[in-house]
Amino acid sequence: MQRSLISLAVMALLGLSSGLAPLAAAATSATPAAKAVKVTTQLPRNAVPTHYAVSLVPDAANSSFSASVTIALDIKQASSSITLNAADLKFSAAAISAGPGKPVQAASKISVDDDKQTATFQFAQPLAVGSYQLKLDYTGVIGTQPTGMFSLDYQNGSEKKRALYTQFENSEARRVIPSWDEPFYKATFALEATVPAGQMAVSNMPVAATSKLADGRELVRFATSPKMSTYLLFFGLGEFERATAVEGGTELGVVTQKGSIAQAQFALDSSVAVLKEYNDYFGVKYPLPKLDNIAAPGRSQFFSAMENWGAIFTFESAILLDPRTATQSDKETSFLVAAHEMAHQWFGDLVTMAWWDDLWLNEGFASWMESRTTTRLHPEWKWELRAVGTREQAMNRDALATTHPVVQHIASVEQASQAFDSITYQKGESVIRMLENYVGDDAWRAGVRSYMARHAYGNTVSDDLWREVEKAAHKPVTAIAHDFTLKPGVPMIRVADAVCKNGQTTIALTQGEFSKDQTDKKPLSWRVPVIAQTVGGATASTIVAGGKASMTLPGCGAVLVNAGQSGYYRTLYAPKAFAALADRFAGLAAIDQLGLLSDSWSLGMAGLMPASSFLDLASRAPLDAAPQVWDQIADSLLALHYSYDGKPEQQAALDRYARKRLAPVLARIGWSKAADEAAPVANLREALIQVLGAVGDEGVVAEARRRYAAAATDKDAMPAALRRPILGVIADNADAATWEQLHAAAREEKSSMIKSELYDLLGTAKDKALAQRALELALTDEGGATEGASILNHVAGHHPDLAYDFAVSHHAQIEKKIDASSRGRYFPGLGGRSSDPAMIAKLRAYAKQYLAADAQGDTKTAIASIQYRVKLRTARLPEIDAWLSKHG
Ligand SMILES: [Zn+2]
Repeated sequence: MQRSLISLAVMALLGLSSGLAPLAAAATSATPAAKAVKVTTQLPRNAVPTHYAVSLVPDAANSSFSASVTIALDIKQASSSITLNAADLKFSAAAISAGPGKPVQAASKISVDDDKQTATFQFAQPLAVGSYQLKLDYTGVIGTQPTGMFSLDYQNGSEKKRALYTQFENSEARRVIPSWDEPFYKATFALEATVPAGQMAVSNMPVAATSKLADGRELVRFATSPKMSTYLLFFGLGEFERATAVEGGTELGVVTQKGSIAQAQFALDSSVAVLKEYNDYFGVKYPLPKLDNIAAPGRSQFFSAMENWGAIFTFESAILLDPRTATQSDKETSFLVAAHEMAHQWFGDLVTMAWWDDLWLNEGFASWMESRTTTRLHPEWKWELRAVGTREQAMNRDALATTHPVVQHIASVEQASQAFDSITYQKGESVIRMLENYVGDDAWRAGVRSYMARHAYGNTVSDDLWREVEKAAHKPVTAIAHDFTLKPGVPMIRVADAVCKNGQTTIALTQGEFSKDQTDKKPLSWRVPVIAQTVGGATASTIVAGGKASMTLPGCGAVLVNAGQSGYYRTLYAPKAFAALADRFAGLAAIDQLGLLSDSWSLGMAGLMPASSFLDLASRAPLDAAPQVWDQIADSLLALHYSYDGKPEQQAALDRYARKRLAPVLARIGWSKAADEAAPVANLREALIQVLGAVGDEGVVAEARRRYAAAATDKDAMPAALRRPILGVIADNADAATWEQLHAAAREEKSSMIKSELYDLLGTAKDKALAQRALELALTDEGGATEGASILNHVAGHHPDLAYDFAVSHHAQIEKKIDASSRGRYFPGLGGRSSDPAMIAKLRAYAKQYLAADAQGDTKTAIASIQYRVKLRTARLPEIDAWLSKHG
């Protein structure tokens, strides 16, 4: 699954990825390290399914379906009852037989447990050990949010349309098929559906046969799937179009609403390139006959794409490129999401974690593979430089007391939902990058290949992977892997002043722990692979174990630790060592400039360095530094800008500095794309326009307004590449008339994808009265059933307290607008962006009233983030003020 990109986009826009605010999606509370890994189950193990034959009859107009399933199963212990998962299903019949022609026994009693989401079928005659077929007839509900089977209504040209889709991860297959809905219970699936003529039905496997029914409808039978987990099943139905290509004997498809297929060409081309790469990398060829990617309108607050085997589901905004609006970053997103979901076809679908404890085996790997593949297949995007940002996302979360280990014990469905967080994804990815770097690419790939071959169609725990990698690498990788996946938190390497003698530099390293909110914590101990160099010299590496190490580096001069930035740790230099490095900042590799900026920002904000250290480095960045370096500086200055909210004088000083630093960079790259421009420059231009607009650059605001006003008559005024940042500045600074104009544009827009984007913009106005109007709008379904929660989320960017209070006071209405998996995180995610200490009590009261004890992890993280931000405003900003009055 790919986490919701909407919240990430909001974070980027508001500079929230810089650690001043919590990630919109957060996680569970701390669990002690190194728990024994064992497969959890919430079902009795007396029966094991082997095959499901499912017959679905959806009734889209009435938001319901009727169905029957025949489950082939083995009774392992004689019993008189069978319990499986079912949620919101009504059973009309249940019967079991030992096979065709054998006596059929109807269930004597059917009982449903709503809390446990199970159904139990009692039989008067006990069932002996052996093979059976359980046949169930039932009906269920089609929802309006992406959970179970759901409908999405959308505008297609001048017509209103409704399409159906399913979303089953982590535990929602039970809303459509009574099943052993846990990843460990793999079975084959044969699906058939009765559908209206003229609509396209899509599932994991190709259509095997279609027949016309007497009433004009069609019966579509899909081929039987390979053995797989329930959460990977998919069914979609609507007025679709499909484009295909073939790679390595597999038919690749992209499915869109009618009329949008041309916007899927880039995604289809990407799929071809990625499949070729993966068939080679994994050493096990993609095993299904086809692989579709189904693009759907609408949104989820939980996810943007899902890796159903052979039938990836992706929201339109994360896959389609509309030539009217598509930017460089849209292109990157489309490719990345495809690379992520396709990696899951192996990591997750072919080999699946035994239980949610090891979710990172799915998500950490898909995230790492997505980055690796993007770097390889689109070298012009310089994606390797994103590694530092990924690590920061993980560390911002991991340095709070409420963090958890990458591998964590999951006891319930709610906890599993909360595990889709930046520890599982971004820390997982960062740790893999470090370990791959430690053992070498070839050994790593050899380990992955034998892991895939050995466990295909099976379930695993993390140690199954370490075993294969260690065998391939002949290096003790398991011990290091355990340190970084079974212990929570961020190691910190302190670098003492360097001593240079005879052309060699000796440094002493000490391992501590980086924490944002536990300053007197006794550090945990890790074995940390460290790579270091004197600037410009050759690198050397060591393992810091037992808390200490010393390294001898060739050459003399400033010392750079974590050279290349593959290590998952913070580096804290002694003041002289930092000053020496800062003097060489302009000449460092871009990846190390990014690493140094991030470390100095976080360590400074935590009080371990002067808070102004980051500004010392930012002042030394040359105008022609890599676009990603300026991106990060802009992002951090915007974060500082927001942390000054409510302190207008100081904020004005910061804004002056930000304009002074950033405006020349925008002037250098200009508003128009140069003919030979490198791809990342386009992203930087977008970021600079937005940030300069936010820090009050009058020239940028005026130019954005001029282009916006001219767009109606001059098509060159607002080209696709500039449309989003210009609209961003316009909406941010909107007055009532402008807001109305945007609102009218949203109402009149005929494209479902652009329509959603316009409605989101209405939530981004700084003006409080307009924010209030956006909140009222969020209560309606005007922008679509999934749009309201998104508008509200955007309002929380400028007005977290207003948005949170509004959401809670309309709790029942808002809860209907989010998917079930988001319930534990959505409300805390809004309040968690506040800087007001009063929000802490509100969040506690909310959790007490609405959340089960095992669903409060995100609330605790939101509270920890507010506490950190409050401390930062009082303790750290004065240092920034002092620096600005001296250098600003
Ligand atoms: Zn994923």
